[in-house]
Amino acid sequence: MAVKSVWQYYAPVGDVLLLLDLFRRMVNDSIRIGLLNDASSLRKLSLLSYNQLSCYDSPGCYKLCAISRAAGILASRKKSLKRGFPTRTPYAVRPLLVSCYNFRVKNGGLEVPIARGKRLSISLTKHTLDVISQPGVKVRSFTLTQNKLCLCIALDVPMIECISTVGVDRNLRNLTVGNDQETRHYDLSETVRIASTTVHIARSFKRDDARTKAGIASKYGRRRTARTRHLLHNATKTIVALAVQRRTAIVLENIQGIRALYRKGNGQGRKYRGRMNGWSFGEAQRQIEYKARWVGLPVIRLSRRETRGSSVTCPRCGERLQSDKKLKRKLWCSKCRIMMDRDTVAAVNLSRRGRVRFARSRPPIIEAQGGAVEAMKGNPTPTVIHGVDAPKLTQPNKS
Ligand SMILES: [Zn+2]
Repeated sequence: MAVKSVWQYYAPVGDVLLLLDLFRRMVNDSIRIGLLNDASSLRKLSLLSYNQLSCYDSPGCYKLCAISRAAGILASRKKSLKRGFPTRTPYAVRPLLVSCYNFRVKNGGLEVPIARGKRLSISLTKHTLDVISQPGVKVRSFTLTQNKLCLCIALDVPMIECISTVGVDRNLRNLTVGNDQETRHYDLSETVRIASTTVHIARSFKRDDARTKAGIASKYGRRRTARTRHLLHNATKTIVALAVQRRTAIVLENIQGIRALYRKGNGQGRKYRGRMNGWSFGEAQRQIEYKARWVGLPVIRLSRRETRGSSVTCPRCGERLQSDKKLKRKLWCSKCRIMMDRDTVAAVNLSRRGRVRFARSRPPIIEAQGGAVEAMKGNPTPTVIHGVDAPKLTQPNKS
């Protein structure tokens, strides 16, 4: 089951705004009750707080949703505490309404209950209607904020049987997608330029006023995010469409902990660190994953162990490649005596390592967000070079 969302603006009326605030207060009440009783599971929290929410004059379904939202907030707080992050007492500030009950799409509008026996219809835009009227699409829940309406939609898609894999290497200035047959570069150097322009603009305001500065920085930050996202969307859309056409599963590397490489005290310049940390690799992964899931394309996430050394290993002979500052993004294999492009090497290696998962008999794990684990059918042609790929994966050298 693939899930994504579609959103639009809407014009709120007084009743809705009151309801949003009521919902927010109900969420905060449940959070308070949960904290007092040290309850964070949905079941325990509903038993404790459902009756206490009876003083609120709202449709019963919203009470359940408020409790479920509070349970979500409490669970993420618990997780942060477990990991040792500093956490404050949670409190919902922004008015918001989430519900998965008692709504329906009728006559080009979304009908939601706002009081007992009273329903409100919010007209949907053409885009929203187009998306939700696609065959097989079900609307699961809706979210209202002060000016936005967001619908969560689900689609049951059959998995595409893949015949090969394609590796996606994420870099600062490009996305490289490829396997042994072909590689493509998706240029993202524009995002680096946008980031530096944003920094430049924010820096050009010289007045010594922290509040104005923060406001300006956040405004231009939002603009930067929107522009970067747009570029990424263009690239990821093509990547997924091409992968579907060629029937290749997408292989993603695990670059968890990449931020630790660019921290203060690591001996890098401030500007360099800023540039490297402004890199939106997580967004690229998010987009590829949800777009792939929506069309039923398998995505293989390699583990950290499987990712190791993917950009410095020769795809031909498995030798460690030599790099040189003068060569920029080229690598030299001393055994094969050829020069290779660093990004291409990484993409090819990733695609091979993803394919090793097929080749081995153990069930390939295709991780989907939300813990769903699906196995892939079909065995793609295992063109793995024995003695090169497999041992490297099972025993990565610890040096
Ligand atoms: Zn080589």
